[in-house]
Amino acid sequence: MHVLVLGAGQLARMMSLAGAPLNLEISAFDVGSKNIVHPLTQAVIGHGLENAIEQADVITAEFEHIPHDVLDVCEKSGKFLPSTEAIKAGGDRRIEKALLDAAKVKNAKYAVINTREDFDKAIEYVGIPMVLKSALGGYDGKGQWRLKNANDADTIWAEMAECIAATETQAIVAEEFVPFNREVSLVGARGKDGDVVVYPLAENIHTNGVLSLSTAIDDAELQEQAKSMFTAVANSLDYVGVLALEFFDVDGQLLVNEIAPRVHNSGHWTQQGAETCQFENHLRAVCGLPLGSTKLIRATSMINILGEDSLPNEVLAMEGCHVHWYGKEKRAGRKMGHINVTADYSGELQRRLAKLATILDKDAYPALQELS
Ligand code: ATP
Ligand code: MG
Repeated sequence: MHVLVLGAGQLARMMSLAGAPLNLEISAFDVGSKNIVHPLTQAVIGHGLENAIEQADVITAEFEHIPHDVLDVCEKSGKFLPSTEAIKAGGDRRIEKALLDAAKVKNAKYAVINTREDFDKAIEYVGIPMVLKSALGGYDGKGQWRLKNANDADTIWAEMAECIAATETQAIVAEEFVPFNREVSLVGARGKDGDVVVYPLAENIHTNGVLSLSTAIDDAELQEQAKSMFTAVANSLDYVGVLALEFFDVDGQLLVNEIAPRVHNSGHWTQQGAETCQFENHLRAVCGLPLGSTKLIRATSMINILGEDSLPNEVLAMEGCHVHWYGKEKRAGRKMGHINVTADYSGELQRRLAKLATILDKDAYPALQELS
């Protein structure tokens, strides 16, 4: 089977690594340059979307910010999974919110803003404090504003108006500020036959809007809530592949923050911590193969490597540390790789994380410092 991934970043790379043992061949389509590239070496192996589609048995995506004309061509080929509708929902907060409402899945109160008048109405309806997010193109906390005081509305509006004007179909989604206790996410897969499997929930720590630490947790009640919300969203889209739901946990009640119609950063821990990793399960699903077990096999955390391109050898030497580099050029704050840390039980995992906190640079790994 030949799988074409739209997007040539680390997620396509890790799909390629996971697909090899199953004889699944992965190529990646760089949406910007229109080159077909090898997901590991980045070597150009062809050019043009039509050629890429022609060579593929199945087409999927590693990110949601894909031009709709590209998605429409893929849709017409009849080879695209999970579904172009799901990718469009993941890339546009307006569609995403409407989808959650239609699936009757709890999410933060919201309003869509196109004009200053809409903004004033949103302040009344949603209330202050409020989180404002661009409908299109947001990721890693970019394209967001916080309105904490009505006096700041003019200043924030000036910036939002500029953002709306810069892209033709852009708008802002205003959300109530959710006073969450913690953030968790659920990664799972739905097969062609409608079969749903989910991994254990992960608890996520973000630093400056970017995920820094993810740990698989064991909470039967929360897991049950998350799974039923996951199933409602996946079924409503007739989804095929791996899907991630990000949640706010407010005193044991989950609210969906956003959905990601793809393999997800908060599921990278499954490479060492689960029977079958999320990358393999995504490929299994889109190729029509049986889904693999999502069972937790050991206590695992994932630490993102942001803006760094080297690690002390001590890390590689440490028992339970698994380093995954993405082969990317160094840039401040860029996701360069991750470390999966495993242990036989959770106390041992905490000790290993604390040890790492003494080895790694304080500024580069802030979430770890809180644990030391
Ligand atoms: P991602 O990289 O996950 O795609 P993103 O840029 O799409 O991020 P969100 O996940 O919507 O943005 O928001 C980033 C972070 O901001 C969240 O993880 C959460 O910590 C905080 N946040 C977002 N929305 C709210 C809200 N309504 N109330 C409180 N905090 C929020
Ligand atoms: Mg998010």
